Amino acid sequence: MSATRVLVLNSGSSSVKYQLLEMADGTRLAAGLAERIGERQSRLVHRPLASGGERRERVEQFADHGAALRAVAEELRADGLGLDSPRLAAIGHRVVHGGQSFTRPTLIDDAVLDEIERLVPLAPLHNPANLTGIRTAQDLNPHLPQVAVFDTTFHTTVPESAARYALEKTTADEYLIRRYGFHGTSHAYVSRRTAALLGKDPSQVNVIVLHLGNGASVSAVEGGRCVETSMGMTPLEGLVMGTRTGDLDPAVVLHLMRIGGMTVDEVDELLNKRSGLAGLCGDNDMREIRRRVEEGDENAQLAFDIYIHRLKKYVGAYFAVLGRLDAVAFTAGVGENSPAVRRAALAGLEGLGIRVDPALNEAEGAAAEGARLISPGEARVAVAVVPTDEELEIAQQTYALVSDGEPQQRGEPA
Ligand code: ADP
Repeated sequence: MSATRVLVLNSGSSSVKYQLLEMADGTRLAAGLAERIGERQSRLVHRPLASGGERRERVEQFADHGAALRAVAEELRADGLGLDSPRLAAIGHRVVHGGQSFTRPTLIDDAVLDEIERLVPLAPLHNPANLTGIRTAQDLNPHLPQVAVFDTTFHTTVPESAARYALEKTTADEYLIRRYGFHGTSHAYVSRRTAALLGKDPSQVNVIVLHLGNGASVSAVEGGRCVETSMGMTPLEGLVMGTRTGDLDPAVVLHLMRIGGMTVDEVDELLNKRSGLAGLCGDNDMREIRRRVEEGDENAQLAFDIYIHRLKKYVGAYFAVLGRLDAVAFTAGVGENSPAVRRAALAGLEGLGIRVDPALNEAEGAAAEGARLISPGEARVAVAVVPTDEELEIAQQTYALVSDGEPQQRGEPA
């Protein structure tokens, strides 16, 4: 019996999301979410997808990630999909920050764990949670290969001219300050899927990918390689997001501290949690903002306009970076589901060859499912909507690493 299954684990600060995939045909065998880890009442929702069984829910206390993952392993075992199954090839872990060290998915050993740990100052909330998830999974089955797939890897091809800030070089180097970018697995998956939609090899296609979820980022992908991306040293830079400012004059921070008397933590919270769409109009859910816009709410309209203006500015800038553009692709919660955002973001760009077909953009039901084009057939630049699938991308990268017999690559600090 060959090992053709991959468990994908995405360990957040208080949650673990997981999916078990059969790589022979891409089917999902199980999925679930353990949340509120560390609180008095944690919850695990497990969905056995292959057997057609009922969704199961457990409400109990998971004191830590270990307890949560043990519960996940029990649920999988109850479906005959335990972590000791010989069909399981590997576990693929989403790891947020790989710095410049990890330019590819990497088989985890002690040196890799040490390097992920060294990068904790760059992602103080995420990397520790990812590390805990990895260590717990290792305890549950020490013999199973574990692979780290980094949010930053796809962006390690961004050239120095785009990755470096114009900050004094020695200081930037001392504190590892540069553009790393995030959402990399999504940008990688969506840019490749967009090329497939055009019937081309990724190496032939230049794409701007707009990943618009609660967090949001843009990337410019030239022939399959990322050459620019909007998130920076942290996921705060770039687009207007649900609760994050995106681009901001850095002197605003100094002003808030000097004149406003705010502490570092207060500014951090303001920029990351109380700004963006929520800070502008009180709502961060684009559905609610659109509903309020339809009712004539001025604050919601202004928030929407600021969000759209930023998006359009990035599309123009990245078109210039690429020189030739074949497609613009929308993905994630807002990008996949909001015709109003897609229409407004690309309105007025006809001169650049970018056009949206209103009927295709606003289609509903079956016509609005899956990866699809929403530009008129004759448009110079294709506009696509591509549902992202980070779990599938992580599973594929993990499986490619453990199944092809190639020497397995270790991350080497650059
Ligand atoms: P993340 O993974 O960053 O939390 P998602 O990619 O799941 O985010 O996107 C979540 C966001 O998608 C929600 O906050 C909401 O604004 C938006 N969204 C979801 N469905 C719709 C819809 N039908 N119309 C507009 N926006 C939507």
